Amino acid sequence: MKILSTAFLLICCFAVNAKGLTVYTSRKEHLVKDIFKAYEGKTGVKINYKTGKAGALIQNLKAELKNPEADIFMTVDAGNLWYASHEGLLNSLSSKVLDKNVPSHLRDRDSKWYGLSVRARTTVVNTKLVKNGTTLSYEDLARPEWKGKLCLRTSKKVYNQSLVAMLISTHGYEKTKKIITGWVSNKVDIFSNDTNVLKAVAAGQCAVGIVNTYYFGRLMKKSPKLPLAITWPNQKSYGVHINVSGAGIVKNSKNQVEAQKFLEWLSSSEAQKHFAQVNMEFPILKNAPQSDIVKSWGKFKANTAFNLTDAGKLQKKAIKLMHEVGYK
Ligand code: FE
Repeated sequence: MKILSTAFLLICCFAVNAKGLTVYTSRKEHLVKDIFKAYEGKTGVKINYKTGKAGALIQNLKAELKNPEADIFMTVDAGNLWYASHEGLLNSLSSKVLDKNVPSHLRDRDSKWYGLSVRARTTVVNTKLVKNGTTLSYEDLARPEWKGKLCLRTSKKVYNQSLVAMLISTHGYEKTKKIITGWVSNKVDIFSNDTNVLKAVAAGQCAVGIVNTYYFGRLMKKSPKLPLAITWPNQKSYGVHINVSGAGIVKNSKNQVEAQKFLEWLSSSEAQKHFAQVNMEFPILKNAPQSDIVKSWGKFKANTAFNLTDAGKLQKKAIKLMHEVGYK
């Protein structure tokens, strides 16, 4: 009997570890591969992963809801994380570790997803066209002096939907509508991605653009002589809009306990040392080291009053507002 139960234990637990955990992620493979390997090396728990666009992975999760392949959903932007939780695809967690490591404004109010790295959606200026020391705010970009000087990414991108959601939360719908109307009338063009916004600013096609910090980091690493500089907006008011990459545990996952341990580890100092650095992001964990490039951008005030759950809750309103003012 004793032999039998020992054998059962061995079969049971080895089976879980041999299969490991499965992550569905919209992050690029090179940004997550090494950190997954590090966890495997440390714990013996294999991390399988499937990469794809956030929308497509969410559709996969929906189709597999009753018997999911995935244990963890990892993506970028609170807007995407919120949408997955809103569709009933993520489980609520109870984790003292995650609650301690992840600041409350960077995680779901119902504990269904947690931020794991931070990016700022900042203003970048052409240093030949904008005087050094010029202070800026998201609201300023609606003013007539920026007419024909603003480059914007498409409103279809969740990054801009979350930014506008933050403005709605801060100013209300009508005032935000005025601000975004101003942006649209000042814009030079609408670009398909942040890198093209940066290239247009560098080429002098416009003087200022709104982009995520890591795109600035990537482009400047490749072409350090470009006349571009970050100008942190709203330093005299609520601070720069920040967002996250993050993750949650898939509803009906058969490995809830192991999956939670993995998320907790991702928020730990051991993982945070690397997780954000690969993509030139800011660590979620206070005091975890930043990459040299990120450090070189200097300190800034981030908007910590906006709870990112509201980026999701206000997403529909943000899309409606941008449509109403003709922001394509
Ligand atoms: Fe991105």
